Amino acid sequence: MLDDYALEQSVAYKILFNSVKKNKISHAYLFETNNYQKGFDMALSFGKYLLCKNHFVNNEKCDNCVQCINIDKHDFPELRIIDSDGLWIKKEQLDNLQKEFSKKAINGGNQVYIINHAEKLNAQAANSILKFLEEPEPNIIAILVTNNKYSLLDTIISRCQIISLKDTKLEVSNMSNIENIAYHLFNNKEEVMNFIQYTKNENIINKVLEFVIYFEKNGLSTMLFTNKLWYSVIKEKDDIINAFSIMLLFYKDILNYKLKGVTEIFELNTEIEYIKNNNTDKQLCDKINVVLRNKEKIKFNINTFLLMDSLIIEMGKIND
Ligand SMILES: [Zn+2]
Repeated sequence: MLDDYALEQSVAYKILFNSVKKNKISHAYLFETNNYQKGFDMALSFGKYLLCKNHFVNNEKCDNCVQCINIDKHDFPELRIIDSDGLWIKKEQLDNLQKEFSKKAINGGNQVYIINHAEKLNAQAANSILKFLEEPEPNIIAILVTNNKYSLLDTIISRCQIISLKDTKLEVSNMSNIENIAYHLFNNKEEVMNFIQYTKNENIINKVLEFVIYFEKNGLSTMLFTNKLWYSVIKEKDDIINAFSIMLLFYKDILNYKLKGVTEIFELNTEIEYIKNNNTDKQLCDKINVVLRNKEKIKFNINTFLLMDSLIIEMGKIND
Protein backbone atom coordinates (compact mmCIF):
# COMPACT_ATOMS: atom_id res chain seq x y z
CA MET A 1 0.00 0.00 0.00
CA LEU A 2 1.00 3.60 -0.44
CA ASP A 3 1.93 3.84 3.23
CA ASP A 4 4.78 1.42 2.60
CA TYR A 5 6.60 4.28 0.90
CA ALA A 6 5.98 6.89 3.58
CA LEU A 7 9.51 6.57 4.92
CA GLU A 8 11.60 5.67 1.96
CA GLN A 9 9.97 8.27 -0.29
CA SER A 10 8.64 10.68 2.29
CA VAL A 11 8.50 13.78 0.08
CA ALA A 12 6.74 12.06 -2.79
CA TYR A 13 4.46 10.28 -0.37
CA LYS A 14 3.38 13.52 1.26
CA ILE A 15 2.61 15.14 -2.09
CA LEU A 16 0.49 12.19 -3.21
CA PHE A 17 -1.21 11.76 0.13
CA ASN A 18 -2.12 15.45 0.30
CA SER A 19 -3.33 15.60 -3.28
CA VAL A 20 -5.96 13.01 -2.36
CA LYS A 21 -6.68 14.39 1.07
CA LYS A 22 -7.19 17.92 -0.20
CA ASN A 23 -9.03 16.66 -3.23
CA LYS A 24 -6.51 18.17 -5.60
CA ILE A 25 -5.82 15.18 -7.75
CA SER A 26 -3.99 15.96 -10.97
CA HIS A 27 -5.14 14.30 -14.14
CA ALA A 28 -1.58 13.25 -14.87
CA TYR A 29 1.43 12.32 -12.77
CA LEU A 30 4.93 11.64 -13.93
CA PHE A 31 6.93 9.45 -11.57
CA GLU A 32 10.55 10.19 -12.17
CA THR A 33 12.16 7.14 -10.58
CA ASN A 34 15.80 8.28 -10.37
CA ASN A 35 17.07 4.68 -10.16
CA TYR A 36 14.69 3.87 -7.33
CA GLN A 37 13.94 0.18 -7.90
CA LYS A 38 10.36 0.26 -6.67
CA GLY A 39 9.17 3.26 -8.69
CA PHE A 40 6.60 1.29 -10.65
CA ASP A 41 5.35 -0.49 -7.51
CA MET A 42 4.85 2.85 -5.84
CA ALA A 43 2.94 4.17 -8.85
CA LEU A 44 0.75 1.06 -8.71
CA SER A 45 0.11 1.57 -5.01
CA PHE A 46 -0.92 5.12 -5.75
CA GLY A 47 -3.27 3.83 -8.45
CA LYS A 48 -4.81 1.51 -5.89
CA TYR A 49 -5.06 4.38 -3.48
CA LEU A 50 -7.09 6.31 -6.02
CA LEU A 51 -9.44 3.44 -6.76
CA CYS A 52 -9.98 1.55 -3.52
CA LYS A 53 -13.14 2.77 -1.84
CA ASN A 54 -11.71 2.17 1.61
CA HIS A 55 -8.81 4.49 0.91
CA PHE A 56 -10.59 6.98 -1.09
CA VAL A 57 -13.99 7.33 0.47
CA ASN A 58 -13.40 6.19 4.03
CA ASN A 59 -9.76 7.25 4.24
CA GLU A 60 -8.82 3.93 5.78
CA LYS A 61 -5.73 1.88 5.17
CA CYS A 62 -6.49 -1.02 2.90
CA ASP A 63 -4.92 -3.71 0.80
CA ASN A 64 -7.46 -6.44 1.14
CA CYS A 65 -10.80 -5.32 -0.27
CA VAL A 66 -12.12 -6.82 -3.50
CA GLN A 67 -10.79 -3.86 -5.49
CA CYS A 68 -7.31 -4.03 -4.02
CA ILE A 69 -7.10 -7.80 -4.47
CA ASN A 70 -8.28 -7.62 -8.06
CA ILE A 71 -5.83 -4.86 -8.82
CA ASP A 72 -3.04 -7.03 -7.47
CA LYS A 73 -4.21 -9.80 -9.78
CA HIS A 74 -4.21 -7.33 -12.68
CA ASP A 75 -7.88 -8.09 -13.03
CA PHE A 76 -9.49 -4.74 -12.55
CA PRO A 77 -10.82 -2.86 -15.55
CA GLU A 78 -10.56 0.59 -13.95
CA LEU A 79 -6.82 0.25 -13.72
CA ARG A 80 -4.79 -0.45 -16.81
CA ILE A 81 -1.08 -0.91 -17.14
CA ILE A 82 0.73 -0.24 -20.36
CA ASP A 83 4.29 -1.33 -20.82
CA SER A 84 6.70 -1.62 -23.71
CA ASP A 85 7.12 -4.78 -25.73
CA GLY A 86 10.79 -4.43 -24.94
CA LEU A 87 11.50 -1.78 -27.52
CA TRP A 88 8.55 0.54 -27.76
CA ILE A 89 5.14 1.45 -26.50
CA LYS A 90 2.95 1.67 -29.57
CA LYS A 91 0.04 3.85 -30.50
CA GLU A 92 -2.38 0.91 -30.75
CA GLN A 93 -1.85 0.09 -27.11
CA LEU A 94 -3.02 3.56 -26.17
CA ASP A 95 -5.86 3.63 -28.66
CA ASN A 96 -7.32 0.46 -27.20
CA LEU A 97 -7.08 1.86 -23.72
CA GLN A 98 -8.73 5.12 -24.67
CA LYS A 99 -11.64 3.33 -26.31
CA GLU A 100 -12.15 1.13 -23.29
CA PHE A 101 -12.00 3.99 -20.83
CA SER A 102 -14.29 6.33 -22.72
CA LYS A 103 -16.98 3.63 -22.71
CA LYS A 104 -16.84 3.37 -18.96
CA ALA A 105 -16.47 7.03 -18.17
CA ILE A 106 -20.23 7.34 -17.91
CA ASN A 107 -20.30 5.41 -14.62
CA GLY A 108 -18.32 8.09 -12.83
CA GLY A 109 -15.65 6.79 -10.45
CA ASN A 110 -11.95 7.06 -11.11
CA GLN A 111 -10.11 5.27 -13.84
CA VAL A 112 -6.35 5.04 -13.78
CA TYR A 113 -3.83 4.05 -16.36
CA ILE A 114 -0.15 3.58 -15.71
CA ILE A 115 2.41 3.82 -18.46
CA ASN A 116 5.54 2.09 -17.32
CA HIS A 117 8.81 2.90 -19.10
CA ALA A 118 7.20 6.00 -20.58
CA GLU A 119 10.52 6.86 -22.22
CA LYS A 120 9.70 4.06 -24.66
CA LEU A 121 6.63 5.74 -26.09
CA ASN A 122 7.33 5.92 -29.79
CA ALA A 123 6.62 9.14 -31.65
CA GLN A 124 3.01 8.34 -32.61
CA ALA A 125 2.23 6.96 -29.18
CA ALA A 126 3.69 10.06 -27.58
CA ASN A 127 1.45 12.26 -29.70
CA SER A 128 -1.55 10.17 -28.88
CA ILE A 129 -0.87 10.44 -25.16
CA LEU A 130 -0.33 14.15 -25.54
CA LYS A 131 -3.83 14.56 -26.96
CA PHE A 132 -5.15 12.64 -24.02
CA LEU A 133 -3.34 14.96 -21.63
CA GLU A 134 -4.38 18.10 -23.44
CA GLU A 135 -8.05 17.29 -23.17
CA PRO A 136 -8.28 15.31 -19.98
CA GLU A 137 -11.53 13.60 -19.22
CA PRO A 138 -12.77 13.93 -15.70
CA ASN A 139 -11.93 10.99 -13.43
CA ILE A 140 -9.31 9.57 -15.77
CA ILE A 141 -5.91 9.77 -14.18
CA ALA A 142 -2.67 9.04 -15.97
CA ILE A 143 0.46 7.91 -14.18
CA LEU A 144 3.61 7.85 -16.26
CA VAL A 145 6.68 6.14 -14.88
CA THR A 146 10.14 6.75 -16.24
CA ASN A 147 13.73 6.64 -15.25
CA ASN A 148 14.61 9.06 -17.98
CA LYS A 149 12.41 12.10 -17.98
CA TYR A 150 14.50 13.82 -20.63
CA SER A 151 13.57 11.41 -23.37
CA LEU A 152 9.93 12.46 -23.05
CA LEU A 153 8.41 15.31 -25.00
CA ASP A 154 8.56 18.60 -23.09
CA THR A 155 4.91 19.06 -23.89
CA ILE A 156 4.10 15.83 -22.06
CA ILE A 157 6.26 16.72 -19.07
CA SER A 158 4.67 20.12 -18.73
CA ARG A 159 1.19 18.60 -18.47
CA CYS A 160 2.09 16.25 -15.64
CA GLN A 161 2.65 16.79 -11.99
CA ILE A 162 6.20 15.56 -11.48
CA ILE A 163 6.73 13.15 -8.62
CA SER A 164 10.45 12.90 -8.22
CA LEU A 165 11.55 9.81 -6.31
CA LYS A 166 14.70 9.61 -4.33
CA ASP A 167 17.56 7.26 -5.14
CA THR A 168 17.62 5.30 -1.90
CA LYS A 169 21.16 4.14 -2.49
CA LEU A 170 22.15 7.67 -1.58
CA GLU A 171 19.73 7.63 1.31
CA VAL A 172 22.01 8.27 4.25
CA SER A 173 23.54 11.42 2.84
CA ASN A 174 20.24 12.63 1.41
CA MET A 175 18.14 11.96 4.44
CA SER A 176 16.63 15.07 5.85
CA ASN A 177 17.45 16.16 9.35
CA ILE A 178 14.07 15.22 10.73
CA GLU A 179 14.16 11.71 9.24
CA ASN A 180 17.66 11.15 10.51
CA ILE A 181 16.64 12.26 13.98
CA ALA A 182 13.49 10.13 13.92
CA TYR A 183 15.51 7.02 13.08
CA HIS A 184 17.75 7.70 16.06
CA LEU A 185 14.89 8.38 18.45
CA PHE A 186 12.61 5.45 17.74
CA ASN A 187 12.92 1.78 17.07
CA ASN A 188 9.74 1.05 15.23
CA LYS A 189 8.57 2.21 11.86
CA GLU A 190 5.21 3.46 13.08
CA GLU A 191 6.73 5.83 15.62
CA VAL A 192 9.31 7.05 13.13
CA MET A 193 6.55 7.77 10.65
CA ASN A 194 4.37 9.55 13.16
CA PHE A 195 7.26 11.72 14.20
CA ILE A 196 8.11 12.72 10.64
CA GLN A 197 4.53 13.44 9.67
CA TYR A 198 3.81 15.65 12.64
CA THR A 199 4.92 18.96 11.18
CA LYS A 200 5.37 20.56 14.57
CA ASN A 201 8.40 18.34 15.20
CA GLU A 202 10.42 20.31 12.69
CA ASN A 203 9.84 23.41 14.86
CA ILE A 204 10.64 21.50 18.01
CA ILE A 205 13.99 20.38 16.60
CA ASN A 206 14.86 23.94 15.62
CA LYS A 207 13.78 25.25 19.00
CA VAL A 208 15.91 22.73 20.89
CA LEU A 209 18.98 23.60 18.85
CA GLU A 210 18.32 27.30 19.34
CA PHE A 211 18.00 26.73 23.08
CA VAL A 212 21.23 24.75 23.39
CA ILE A 213 23.17 27.22 21.29
CA TYR A 214 21.84 30.13 23.30
CA PHE A 215 22.74 28.37 26.53
CA GLU A 216 26.24 27.55 25.35
CA LYS A 217 26.87 31.20 24.54
CA ASN A 218 25.06 32.84 27.45
CA GLY A 219 24.98 30.35 30.32
CA LEU A 220 22.68 30.98 33.26
CA SER A 221 20.99 34.03 31.75
CA THR A 222 19.20 31.57 29.47
CA MET A 223 16.78 31.25 32.39
CA LEU A 224 15.43 34.72 31.63
CA PHE A 225 14.51 33.79 28.09
CA THR A 226 12.99 30.35 28.37
CA ASN A 227 9.62 31.73 27.30
CA LYS A 228 10.97 32.57 23.91
CA LEU A 229 13.60 29.85 23.72
CA TRP A 230 11.44 26.96 24.82
CA TYR A 231 7.84 27.34 25.94
CA SER A 232 6.77 29.22 22.83
CA VAL A 233 6.93 25.90 20.99
CA ILE A 234 7.49 23.12 23.51
CA LYS A 235 4.57 22.72 25.90
CA GLU A 236 2.88 19.34 25.77
CA LYS A 237 4.36 16.50 27.75
CA ASP A 238 5.08 14.33 24.70
CA ASP A 239 6.79 17.25 22.99
CA ILE A 240 8.91 17.90 26.07
CA ILE A 241 10.03 14.28 26.15
CA ASN A 242 10.95 14.41 22.46
CA ALA A 243 12.69 17.75 22.96
CA PHE A 244 14.87 16.29 25.68
CA SER A 245 15.68 13.31 23.49
CA ILE A 246 16.67 15.65 20.67
CA MET A 247 18.86 17.62 23.07
CA LEU A 248 20.58 14.38 24.07
CA LEU A 249 21.19 13.48 20.44
CA PHE A 250 22.60 16.93 19.79
CA TYR A 251 25.08 16.82 22.66
CA LYS A 252 26.03 13.23 21.83
CA ASP A 253 26.65 14.20 18.24
CA ILE A 254 28.89 17.07 19.33
CA LEU A 255 30.79 14.62 21.54
CA ASN A 256 31.08 12.37 18.49
CA TYR A 257 32.50 15.23 16.55
CA LYS A 258 34.99 15.98 19.29
CA LEU A 259 36.15 12.38 19.58
CA LYS A 260 35.96 11.17 15.98
CA GLY A 261 36.00 14.37 13.96
CA VAL A 262 32.57 13.74 12.37
CA THR A 263 28.95 14.30 13.24
CA GLU A 264 26.52 11.49 12.52
CA ILE A 265 23.17 13.21 12.78
CA PHE A 266 23.39 16.97 12.59
CA GLU A 267 24.96 18.84 9.77
CA LEU A 268 28.20 20.46 10.80
CA ASN A 269 28.00 24.23 11.21
CA THR A 270 29.78 27.04 13.03
CA GLU A 271 27.59 26.60 16.13
CA ILE A 272 28.52 22.95 16.53
CA GLU A 273 32.13 23.93 16.00
CA TYR A 274 31.78 26.59 18.70
CA ILE A 275 30.22 24.22 21.24
CA LYS A 276 32.83 21.58 20.53
CA ASN A 277 35.65 24.05 21.11
CA ASN A 278 34.14 25.44 24.31
CA ASN A 279 33.56 22.11 26.04
CA THR A 280 35.97 19.44 27.18
CA ASP A 281 35.05 15.79 26.61
CA LYS A 282 34.13 15.57 30.25
CA GLN A 283 31.92 18.64 30.16
CA LEU A 284 29.98 17.22 27.23
CA CYS A 285 29.55 13.90 29.05
CA ASP A 286 28.40 15.70 32.19
CA LYS A 287 25.85 17.70 30.21
CA ILE A 288 24.52 14.55 28.60
CA ASN A 289 24.05 13.11 32.09
CA VAL A 290 22.27 16.23 33.32
CA VAL A 291 19.87 16.15 30.38
CA LEU A 292 19.23 12.45 30.99
CA ARG A 293 18.57 12.98 34.70
CA ASN A 294 16.17 15.82 34.07
CA LYS A 295 14.43 13.91 31.32
CA GLU A 296 13.60 11.25 33.91
CA LYS A 297 11.75 13.88 35.96
CA ILE A 298 9.26 14.49 33.14
CA LYS A 299 7.68 11.12 33.89
CA PHE A 300 6.76 12.35 37.34
CA ASN A 301 4.87 15.32 35.96
CA ILE A 302 7.28 17.86 37.34
CA ASN A 303 6.27 21.46 36.69
CA THR A 304 7.87 22.42 33.36
CA PHE A 305 9.15 25.76 34.61
CA LEU A 306 10.99 24.09 37.47
CA LEU A 307 12.29 21.48 35.09
CA MET A 308 13.88 23.97 32.73
CA ASP A 309 15.30 26.06 35.57
CA SER A 310 16.91 23.03 37.15
CA LEU A 311 18.30 21.92 33.80
CA ILE A 312 19.87 25.29 33.14
CA ILE A 313 21.29 25.61 36.67
CA GLU A 314 22.82 22.13 36.60
CA MET A 315 24.28 22.63 33.16
CA GLY A 316 25.54 26.05 34.22
CA LYS A 317 27.56 24.46 37.02
CA ILE A 318 29.35 22.32 34.46
CA ASN A 319 30.40 25.40 32.54
CA ASP A 320 32.12 26.96 35.55
ZN1 LIG B 1 -8.82 -1.63 -0.85
